[in-house]
Amino acid sequence: MDFLPIFINIKNQNCLVVGGGEVAARKVTLLLQANAHVIVVSPELDEKLNAQLNQGNITHRAEYFHPEHLANVILVIAATNDRATNQLVSESAKILRIPVNVVDNPDLCSFIMPSIVDRSPLLIAVSSSGKSPVLARLLRAHLETIIPEAYGRLVNYAAQFREQVKQHFSHPQKRRLFWEKHLQGSFSEMVLAGKDQAAKNYLANALQGEIDDIPPGEVYLVGAGPGNPDLLTFRAMRLMQQADVVVYDRLVSPAILNMVRRDASRIYAGKERNKHTIPQESINNLLVRLAKEGKRVLRLKGGDPFIFGRGGEEIETLTDHHIPFQVVPGITAASGVAAYAGIPLTHRDYAQSCIFVTGHLKNDSINLDWPTLARPQQTIVIYMGSLGLPVLCQQLISHGLPDTMPAAIIQQGTTQKQKIIIGSLKTLPDLTAAANLTPPTLIIVGEVVKLHPKLTWFQPIENTSQSSTSPSN
Ligand code: SAH
Repeated sequence: MDFLPIFINIKNQNCLVVGGGEVAARKVTLLLQANAHVIVVSPELDEKLNAQLNQGNITHRAEYFHPEHLANVILVIAATNDRATNQLVSESAKILRIPVNVVDNPDLCSFIMPSIVDRSPLLIAVSSSGKSPVLARLLRAHLETIIPEAYGRLVNYAAQFREQVKQHFSHPQKRRLFWEKHLQGSFSEMVLAGKDQAAKNYLANALQGEIDDIPPGEVYLVGAGPGNPDLLTFRAMRLMQQADVVVYDRLVSPAILNMVRRDASRIYAGKERNKHTIPQESINNLLVRLAKEGKRVLRLKGGDPFIFGRGGEEIETLTDHHIPFQVVPGITAASGVAAYAGIPLTHRDYAQSCIFVTGHLKNDSINLDWPTLARPQQTIVIYMGSLGLPVLCQQLISHGLPDTMPAAIIQQGTTQKQKIIIGSLKTLPDLTAAANLTPPTLIIVGEVVKLHPKLTWFQPIENTSQSSTSPSN
């Protein structure tokens, strides 16, 4: 190790920053966050530092640096763009054994500043020992994404119970097991979900031994987005790591399923057209049964669970049985697929509204409010519409949309198998029939489709020869 990582208490202590520019301002902010008394030495201050001065947050010495400025200072940071000044600060501080940091100059530093993830009181510091600060920052960004915002609260809760837990268990080993169990289990989930009172009660009860070894089960109704794993939410990712069992749909891509905790058992509840593997009624009951066994059940659904996902029906049954649940929204096919197809769903010139409908075909017809759909300046997104496409296009035309109205069908949007067919209400059914698409597919009708050639950006690797036909009639 080239450096010893430490966290230093600088509360109400004099810390000196030499320099009055943007970099100095950033360091000042950091020192103020740690409640230091900050003295800035610089003939001039930039706008941000001036604001700090006006708010009474810092002391300003409008002078060039002089070693006397180091009197009564416990830490100094040099952030000037003048090498000689930085060198002087470094040498003077080292003589007085005051820790010194010279920004972007490890040779002149006695301490270096890490990249930090701040979930106060939880702090994570990452350093490359000054060798590749960019790499350290990238790693920090990665950590930011996997450590939920609310972790700081979790630490505070644990702190509140720390003494009580210590009293309760005479053996340190037992204490550690207790914390390991609860910081990864329902208690931490409750805190992260903002159920603060429930979390407190839960931990208090757990401590009194009132809770059985089997914790109460819970259902996580999670939207997995349109297929590309990059489009999962952080919350979805975290609950995917917590689950004991996952009940998933056909729309959940293998790439996403692979990211669920390895030990979780997997139950397929997919529905293929005309082939209901598990009827909805039994899915609801299955979730209830698994949760009653004390399991953390991940109900993973394509897109968003509340958009054509029957998520509402599933949690209704859970409430009937008093089973706790959480709902995690996902990127719905309309927004995910449209974005990856370069088709904005609204646009000031072409569409002021956007409507999502299901084009499910029943007895060769589709039960939709056609006059509402066939309106100008509106984008229509049709889920589950591939079988009914000819009926859809014909109905929209007979309710007043021109047959030249641009329309697109997108196969497996956002994934490496994405394929886009562009046509008009008149041509799209034939173009689609000829293209032999594999589900799922989404249909977008409206003037906005015209923007696709200009705004297209996503190139699936497996499908470089994207078949896009220009609108024609
Ligand atoms: N809850 C889901 C929708 C479920 S209905 C959501 O919010 O997205 C299933 C329909 O969604 C499919 O028939 C198809 O029309 C659409 N769909 C879902 N993912 C898709 C994708 N990656 N590409 C194209 N269409 C998709």
